[in-house]
Amino acid sequence: MLLCRTIPEIRKYLKEQRGRGHLIGLVPTMGYLHEGHLTLMRRAKEQCQTVVISIFVNPLQFGPQEDFAQYPRDLERDIALAGKVGVDAVFAPEGEEMFPPGFCTYVEVERLTDKLCGALRPGHFRGVATIVTKLFNIIQPDYAYFGQKDAQQALVIRRMVADLDMNLELITVPTVRESSGLAMSSRNSFLSEEEKAAATVLYRSLEEARRAVASGERDVEKLRRLVSELIGQERLATLCYAEIYSLPELAPLQTLQGQALLAVSVRIGKTRLIDNIILEA
Ligand code: AMP
Repeated sequence: MLLCRTIPEIRKYLKEQRGRGHLIGLVPTMGYLHEGHLTLMRRAKEQCQTVVISIFVNPLQFGPQEDFAQYPRDLERDIALAGKVGVDAVFAPEGEEMFPPGFCTYVEVERLTDKLCGALRPGHFRGVATIVTKLFNIIQPDYAYFGQKDAQQALVIRRMVADLDMNLELITVPTVRESSGLAMSSRNSFLSEEEKAAATVLYRSLEEARRAVASGERDVEKLRRLVSELIGQERLATLCYAEIYSLPELAPLQTLQGQALLAVSVRIGKTRLIDNIILEA
């Protein structure tokens, strides 16, 4: 497997692979890989002859009070894991390679980004949209893979690709969970065993809402309250949001109809976690 630290290196490699008639798949990540990431890579391998993953902890998408410096990193381990699932190249640029002095161009997706994590993290999705655009321009993938775990991110990127006529297909891959139901996340490594057990409240509350919908509940406010109350019972968890929005517009809803996104976020200790499910009325 090839490791590229610079843009010219990865471009040269991909030109050769494209010359061989290969379809190129891209899995953007911030590293510290887990089974969720690896599932995206396996999915890419099924569709594409050449799979590239990017590993870049993107400073643009972190706020000044956030965990950019603490974000877990282990490139050597990541390379070994990616190699095992058949990834062909890892693009792991240094910060200056992506954002050289003088950088001042950003991509802003409106409307979809003013709620959920976008409301809690001003500038976050601007950072995400900008880095993903750069990665798409560098790699020029035929397919790019994103996790449903970050549902709002996947919707924002999908809108951006459509609005800016980016020539690739996005694949959204279902959330991979621990047997406890906890959605896998690099940030789970910040949690103690006790906190990990508490964090299962996210999925438990989502499942409770799903059951209520299956029993006929359609009142969005009641469903939100159900989720908030369950999370409120978990001593170690503080609710950040529990919201239900239409798909794919993320418009407010009073009554459930068709498909809707139920997204939750809690803080456990210093770590903020997110999870979501799609409710089907
Ligand atoms: P990250 O490294 O956290 O930026 O994640 C890179 C990609 O992996 C994003 O598209 C995430 O949505 C996806 N991802 C992260 N965790 C999971 C998970 N548990 N299941 C599925 N996809 C995931």
